[in-house]
Amino acid sequence: MTPENTILIGIDIGGTNVRAGAVSPQGDLLFREDALIEAARGPDYGLPVIIDLVDTVIAQAGQPVLALGIGSTGPLDREHGCIQNPYTLPGWENVDIVSPLRQRFGVPVALENDADAAALGEAWVGAGRGFGSMVMVTIGTGVGFALIKDGVIHRGIGGEHPEGGHILIDPSGPACYCGANGCLESLVAGPAIAAFAREAVKSHPESFLARIPDTPEKLEAKHVFDGARQGDSICIGLVDQTADYIVRGLISILMMILPDAVVLTGGVLRSFDLMEERIRAALEHVNVIIPAGKVHIQLSKTGQQAGLFGAARAAQLLQEKEA
Ligand SMILES: [Zn+2]
Repeated sequence: MTPENTILIGIDIGGTNVRAGAVSPQGDLLFREDALIEAARGPDYGLPVIIDLVDTVIAQAGQPVLALGIGSTGPLDREHGCIQNPYTLPGWENVDIVSPLRQRFGVPVALENDADAAALGEAWVGAGRGFGSMVMVTIGTGVGFALIKDGVIHRGIGGEHPEGGHILIDPSGPACYCGANGCLESLVAGPAIAAFAREAVKSHPESFLARIPDTPEKLEAKHVFDGARQGDSICIGLVDQTADYIVRGLISILMMILPDAVVLTGGVLRSFDLMEERIRAALEHVNVIIPAGKVHIQLSKTGQQAGLFGAARAAQLLQEKEA
């Protein structure tokens, strides 16, 4: 059991920001602070920023620290506590993040992929609470996927993180850096929606999208959702297309895993209300061979704090293991 009046520190590392929070062993967020990590400046700049941030959070919380947890954009080498991410953290290749923090703070330090951390957080204190199995799908700049079963993160071979956001949806779709054409991320992530919008505006000068300044170069997914809210038919078509691709992704997930709950989050899903009816209606047809209708599909409750809660929970699990 976790001693009373102690804290867990959750750290959420993204490409631009790092966020740290003090979380009670029961899952209450006591204090939170963000800092700019400026990932492009590399770990020599970023690591001291993270350590300073953790110092600040610990000082503000004013209680002894049980353990630290880090959620970071992958790929990671969890066995050696390293970040290996030249994609969204340029310069962060084989960077040992666990040892310096363990040395500095003298407590166990857990390292998790950010999608896993977010799912763990949501299962602990958010929309996944109380469910035996939960899949979390994050649709934003990319598409993240994680599975939590009985409070434990599902891991792949050698402890690697499976990338369910890259399941194949449409082989005639756009090329993705994962090597496939038409994977889920290449069709529904923010940049994918923006690319479809840039294509659509070429043949539809009457569209809402044609009135965005510096169109088509500056078109973003949010313009598509804004246009759909204003009744623009081209934007509505793009939103429906996104919903249909999300449905295909969800059907694959339900067919393979049939979890108790699916929790949705991420920037694109802030416009879930525009897609919800279409998605739920389509999923009703899946009821034939699996009871898909029983799966609780809902939005995240912890939102952008999910990774922080999950990093804290990972810290707690590690501390209990090492105790
Ligand atoms: Zn892909």
